[in-house]
Amino acid sequence: MAGLIERFQAAIGASAVLTAPADTAPYLTDWRGRYRGRALAVLRPATTAEVAAVVRLCSETGTPMVPQGGNTGLVGGGTPDDSGRAVVISLGRLRAVRTLDTANNTITVEAGCLLAEVQAAASEAGRLFPLSLAAEGSCTIGGNLSTNAGGVQVLRYGNTRDLTLGLEVVLPSGEVWSGLRGLRKDNTGYDLKQLFIGAEGTLGFITAAVLKLYPQPSAKATAWLALTDPAAAVMLLAAAQARFDARLTAFELVSASTLALVLKHIPGARSPLTTVPVWSVLLELSDGGSQEELADALTAFVGLALEDGTVIDGALAQSQAQAAQFWALRENASEAQKVEGISIKHDVSVPVSSIPDFLDRAGKALAIAFPGVRIVAFGHLGDGNLHYNLSLPEAAANAGLIDRQAEANRIVHDLVDHQLGGSISAEHGVGQLKRDELTRYKSPLALELMRSVKRALDPQGLMNPGKVISSTI
Ligand SMILES: Cc1cc2nc3c(=O)[nH]c(=O)nc-3n(C[C@H](O)[C@H](O)[C@H](O)COP(=O)(O)OP(=O)(O)OC[C@H]3O[C@@H](n4cnc5c(N)ncnc54)[C@H](O)[C@@H]3O)c2cc1C
Repeated sequence: MAGLIERFQAAIGASAVLTAPADTAPYLTDWRGRYRGRALAVLRPATTAEVAAVVRLCSETGTPMVPQGGNTGLVGGGTPDDSGRAVVISLGRLRAVRTLDTANNTITVEAGCLLAEVQAAASEAGRLFPLSLAAEGSCTIGGNLSTNAGGVQVLRYGNTRDLTLGLEVVLPSGEVWSGLRGLRKDNTGYDLKQLFIGAEGTLGFITAAVLKLYPQPSAKATAWLALTDPAAAVMLLAAAQARFDARLTAFELVSASTLALVLKHIPGARSPLTTVPVWSVLLELSDGGSQEELADALTAFVGLALEDGTVIDGALAQSQAQAAQFWALRENASEAQKVEGISIKHDVSVPVSSIPDFLDRAGKALAIAFPGVRIVAFGHLGDGNLHYNLSLPEAAANAGLIDRQAEANRIVHDLVDHQLGGSISAEHGVGQLKRDELTRYKSPLALELMRSVKRALDPQGLMNPGKVISSTI
């Protein structure tokens, strides 16, 4: 290993090789502060060629590599282990928008572009890049691709995977695979890009991508609605889909406990209604027509839902600023929980029809196992995806709760997977947090197929070791 740091410095410049503790610290812990690791160095290459150069050095010297984007991941995927042997390779300096093709409706961007920058570049060209999540000001497109991020518009536009046409990847050997094609049809064998999307940096470094663009909507109508229970929310979703089809672009569920935390911790947050509803739905429509017509259509729809009792109260945003206030209540849910203190987090999906059953059964079982537990549930109801987080109202008691995480996981994950046919990771990925859980819920054959892919692409096991799958043997 002697001289490795100097070789990195020669490859990408001394200022792009961080070794001082004060410089490396932000890269060695995760957004929630739950994981902490150590690293030989943090490398900040600025081009695909520089990424390839440092990866070749790592491959040659058997140095483990941990890719990192904006470091907003919620499963510890971008945090190195505590051996101090790995290098963190941050893609944050690969920040160019390479091309934007309005006729093909595609944008080609480098991995370190912030999601908000990609959205802005699309918007400047009169297009929409529809991936949208609360961390968009700090997460990178490379991280979004590597976690197959979801967010608030999956209902209409799909996950990051659905928005991707091509990738450029630096393989663990240092070779560059260029699959940067903007094609909507290409049946020439295995679709290799799909391997790297959602791989959480265990198979290679995504350095650039060709992404789909859509027409920018000219009208948006947003409502905050109060409901008595999740079954009413599922009924409302079906009615909204039947009435609005693709114009329904978001349908989010927020529990009273979630909204209460946001109101408590986020400065300026105010409930749109006079009370904090037991359950709220944030519903948004968008289309290319007139603002007035869309707002009228939503008003009429909500009026009918109030009449038949599906909805018990509601507020329709009267301006974009008010819509943004509604959205801030939903989007600050993770931040408010972070301020409140540590919690046990679940990111699950079940068929939309099973959401009420899940909430009922999980709630009852947890109340018995953990008397007094507070459940903070919210999420993308339209996708059957809930963030289902547990804490105790006494913040000091939460360390004891975290120690019993395995017990809580058993209740929630067994119900989700074994009984409701759902997934234990809907959109955040596996990382370190759910690596061992995966072995319980994936079949031995599925795990072996995953290990075969890993061995084929990363025979030395250098890419993000300890994440997603525990061992390749
Ligand atoms: C407030 C908040 C709200 C969130 N809301 C959502 C949400 O609604 N939906 C959702 O899906 N997620 C959400 N997340 C999680 C997170 O923002 C996403 O997982 C995001 O996609 C991570 O991007 P990043 O650039 O921060 O990646 P990082 O955290 O840096 O990395 C994530 C994983 O990808 C790997 N990786 C990063 N870049 C690359 C690359 N270029 N090549 C190969 N591997 C790479 C890392 O090794 C790691 O395993 C939220 C997070 C926060 C803090």
